[in-house]
Amino acid sequence: MHFRKLKLSGFKSFVEPAELHIEAGLTGIVGPNGCGKSNLLEAIRWVMGENSPKSLRSGGMEDVIFAGTAQRPPRDFAEVILNAIDSEGEELQVTRRIERGAGSAYRVNGRDVRAKDVALTFADAATGAHSPALVSQGKIAAVIAAKPAERRQMLEEAAGIAGLHVRRRDAESKLRQTESNLARLDDLMAGLD
Ligand code: ATP
Repeated sequence: MHFRKLKLSGFKSFVEPAELHIEAGLTGIVGPNGCGKSNLLEAIRWVMGENSPKSLRSGGMEDVIFAGTAQRPPRDFAEVILNAIDSEGEELQVTRRIERGAGSAYRVNGRDVRAKDVALTFADAATGAHSPALVSQGKIAAVIAAKPAERRQMLEEAAGIAGLHVRRRDAESKLRQTESNLARLDDLMAGLD
C-alpha cells in the first residue's frame, strides 16, 4: 500500500485544514521542536484506527481535538483523511472523524464502515496503527526490550497476517453460537417427541 495524501483538520495542533502530499520514495519532515512533526505520524496512526490515547500521547481520545490556545477557541471535531493506493492499484480513501461527546466515525471511499473494517483493511496490507513501519520516538528501545510474544506480534503485523487472527476469533465465536443453537434445537426436538 502506498500512502498518497494526508488531510487534517482540527487534529491536535493542526487547527486549520492542512494537506500533505506524500510522494514516492523517502519523505522527511523537518521543523523546529514542537511544530507538529510527531502529530503528523500520530494522525496517520489515528486514521488507521489507533484507539489507545496513550500511544497518541493523549489522556483521552477526545484530546486529539484541537484544544484551543490563548488566541483561538477549541474545536468541536477533528478529522483526518488518508488517500492511498492499495496492492491492487485501487484508490482508497479512509476518513476518521471524532466529535466531542459523540466518539469516532469511519468512512472508506465515502461509505460508513466499522472501526474493525478499517483495521482489517490495513492489517491485510501489512500496515496499520501498530505497524512496525511507523517508528516513533522511543520505539527502537521498546523493540529491543520487547518480550518474545510481542516480537512475534510485530513480525506477524509486518507479514500482513495479523488480520487473520481477528477473522479466526470471529469464526470461532460464530461456530460456538451455531453449536449452542444446534444444542437448543435438539432440546426442542426432544420436547416434541
Ligand atoms: P519535537 O521535535 O520536540 O519532538 P514535534 O515537531 O514532533 O516536536 P509535536 O510533538 O508533534 O511536535 O507537537 C507538539 C505540539 O502540538 C505542542 O505545541 C502541543 O501543544 C501541540 N498539541 C498537541 N495536542 C494538541 C491539541 N489537542 N490541541 C492543540 N495543540 C496540541
